[in-house]
Formats: sequence, structure tokens, C-alpha cells
Amino acid sequence: MLKKNLSILMTALLVLALVLAAAAPLAAQQRTFVTIATGGLAGVYYPLGGGMARLISNEVPHISASVQSTGASVANVGLLDRGNVEFALIQNDIAYYAASGTEMFEGRAMPALRGVAMLYPETIQIIALAGSGIHSVADLAGKRVAVGAAGSGTEANARQILGAYGITYDDIQEDYLSFAEAASNLRDRNVDAAFITAGFPTAAVTDLATSLSIRVIPVSDDAFASLEANYPFYTQVVIPADTYRNVTEDTQTVAVMAMLATHAAVDADIVYDSTRAIFDNLDELAALHAAGGRISLATAQAGQPLELHEGAARYFND
Ligand code: GLU
Repeated sequence: MLKKNLSILMTALLVLALVLAAAAPLAAQQRTFVTIATGGLAGVYYPLGGGMARLISNEVPHISASVQSTGASVANVGLLDRGNVEFALIQNDIAYYAASGTEMFEGRAMPALRGVAMLYPETIQIIALAGSGIHSVADLAGKRVAVGAAGSGTEANARQILGAYGITYDDIQEDYLSFAEAASNLRDRNVDAAFITAGFPTAAVTDLATSLSIRVIPVSDDAFASLEANYPFYTQVVIPADTYRNVTEDTQTVAVMAMLATHAAVDADIVYDSTRAIFDNLDELAALHAAGGRISLATAQAGQPLELHEGAARYFND
């Protein structure tokens, strides 16, 4: 009797083990892993991308999303194009140059990049210390300037804006630094100014401004006119007084737009479900960062520079 019971138990255990072994890979197959390429840790892409990944993972039972920290826009379009990531936060100007094979992408067009949504303005913030004697972009000639991380959209903006003032990298000492590195080098006076292209307030600048007095350098109307003639993605914007501690006046500068992009090869249902998870819950992104509060359904397709992915089109056009 005991022997019989034991053998029934053994059989039951064996069946259970077989069922579990069969179910485990099935369960793993059912959950798709997606990665969102973002930017440096002290920017806006990284925390906001983190919020998007959380929304997707929480709202879509079959998707697990995570973020990757990167050099930002220029690096991100390469990651998308090579299929290393499914989504990326990028600037609209860089998206256009990559898709059309122009500017820094001359000869290596990425026609399979696809748009998901336009997000929020990314403002070119040129930061110097208050006592530095730097009041205008023209004053940067001969100075040591943090121009953004290698592979960033920021770096392209720095080059173009300096160009609008007749300044090239031959006239400055350029340093390829992330926002966090730029802030700490400004603090230590190893660099005289830093370009930051990001939604404001940007954590790296906010942190710097709490310990030192900073100045935000304007981009003039004339410089904007010459920029706009060559690079139509720039718009004029004002960084309001008191965005950063001790910056008590409005600063006129220029901005581009942040967007969420994907690749034509990414499954339409994955893109649809991810888009829905984000855009049905925009209040959560607004709670995370001021830039998140500037994302809206109404402006999500305004000025889309890429062909819309069919999964995103299903969400926005239905
Ligand atoms: N727009 C920046 C770039 O591509 C990154 C901004 C961010 O990290 O928030 O260089």
C-alpha cells in the first residue's frame, strides 16, 4: 500500500515537473523585452524614459520594458537602426538628418526609422558661471566649452549655434562631456561654458545653480535667423526667469523637439501597446518631470519628421 502510494506520488511529481518544464519557456516566450535608448543620467531622457518603461511594463502584460543610458540622439538612431533597441528618445532634427542621410549622416541614411510621437521642446541652454565674463555666444571664442557628449544631439546644436556666430571648433577648446560631467567641470572651472539641449529645468543645471551662480547665455535674433535658414528645426523660445536659482531674467534661446522613435521592423502590436500605455497615462509622466507635463495627445503628431510607424498610426488615427 505504502509502495503504491509512493509510486503515485512519484508519478504525480514527475508529471508536475514536466508541466513546469514545458510551461517555463512558454511563459518566457509570451513576455517580449523591449529597450528604450535614452541619454545621460543627468538629462531628461533618462528619467522620462524610465517612466515610459515603467508604464509599458505595468500596463502591457506581455511586454517588459527597460531603459539604456546612452550618449543620446545621434548614438540612439544608430542603436535603433542596428536593431539594438526597439525605441529611442531623440531630437527631431537628428531624426530628420538620420532618415534623410544629411548633415552628420551624409552617405548613411537610415530610411527604416519610424516615428511614434513628438514629445516636448528641448531647449538649447548655454550655461556659464556668473563671474565668467561670458555674456554672449561670441564671447566663447578662445574658451573651453563643453559641447555635449560624443553621439549627442546637443553636440550638433553646439556646432550649429557657434557657426551662426562665425565660431568653429578651431576657435574654441571643445570638450565632449555629458551633462553631469559638464556641470562638474564648470563647478571646478575646468570649462568656461556648457551646451545643454534638454527639457528645462535640467537636473544637471539645477544642481549646479544651487551651489554656484550661473548665467544662461542668450541666442540672438540674428543668430536665430541664420540658424533657421540652414536648419529649419530650430524655433525661438524663452527660458523664464527663476527656472534656475539666481537667474532672475528671461533668456531668449532656441529649441528643437524631443520625440519617441522606433524602427520599421518592430512589431506593430508592440508599438501600438507601448504607445497606448504611455499616452493613456500622460499624467504619470507629468508627475515625473516638468517636460513630461508638456507632452500631449493634441501635439503628438505636430511636425513629425519621420514616417509614422503603423502601430503608432493605429493608436493616433483610430
Ligand atoms: N537632447 C539631448 C541629446 O540628444 C539629450 C537630452 C536628455 O538627455 O534629456 O543630446
